[in-house]
Amino acid sequence: MSTPLPNPPSFRLEGKRALVTGASRGIGLAAAAALADAGASVVLAARSRADLTAGAEAIRKAGGTAEILPLDVADLPSALEAINGAGAFDILFNNAGINRPGPFLDATPADFDTVFSVNVRAAYFIAQAVSRGMVAQGRGGSIIQTSSQMGHVGGIDRTIYTASKHALEGLTRAMAIELGKHNVRVNTVCPTFVATALTASTMQDPVRMDWIRSKIHLGRTGEVTDITGAVVFLASDAAALITGSSVMIDGGWTAG
Ligand code: NAP
Repeated sequence: MSTPLPNPPSFRLEGKRALVTGASRGIGLAAAAALADAGASVVLAARSRADLTAGAEAIRKAGGTAEILPLDVADLPSALEAINGAGAFDILFNNAGINRPGPFLDATPADFDTVFSVNVRAAYFIAQAVSRGMVAQGRGGSIIQTSSQMGHVGGIDRTIYTASKHALEGLTRAMAIELGKHNVRVNTVCPTFVATALTASTMQDPVRMDWIRSKIHLGRTGEVTDITGAVVFLASDAAALITGSSVMIDGGWTAG
């Protein structure tokens, strides 16, 4: 008699619809491609219509299903109108984010408001809008927020950004408590420095690169494809009991 084996986890996303914000480039576009490759139908949202169109075309060419939803998350009323008009989703990769690097002593209220309007305010109300659709649809869902290692530690010239990502970590845990009864899971991914437009100026600075290399025990900065496996995992039924968690993708930075 053969031993009955437990079912292996499924990382597949067929039949799921995913909204990805910040999908015109960088981590968001890579995640949209990975979610589509895992079988999800993806909706790419950001401001740059031309980049969204090119990204969606590339995903379709690779065999995936993709649409675009041009929007500016800082213009929250119109962004929410667009999202509410796009139908219900099973997966949200709440990823649009910005930084205004600079010393704490020089930061202005305008810098603070600009970063918080995208990284916290928009993330909060987009998550709320998509959660409402998930609850109404009644089949659960997975929300993955792009936090950062700076949601867990501090970083040089990053007080506002660090504060915004710590806020996202708190939001994620509190959402997980309220949405668990609807089987809506809420988690973060927390990248270290990844080569994208966001980090280009920092990664061209040799002094900052010395600091970064001294902190990453695996000895290298990240590529966008280092982030996407965790996004697909958290979106999938393989992560069915994971909520309120943070996946550190930081090469050991926060290990100490
Ligand atoms: P990126 O290449 O600059 O991409 C940012 C994305 O956000 C773009 O698609 C951009 O699209 C979109 N976006 C920015 N402002 C927006 C707005 N007002 N409305 C709609 N979309 C907007 O940066 P990235 O590195 O991929 O960053 C993605 C996320 O990862 C961010 O939340 C960031 O904080 C986080 N993160 C990045 C790193 C890293 O080292 N790169 C590390 C930790 C966390 P449009 O310009 O077309 O609108």
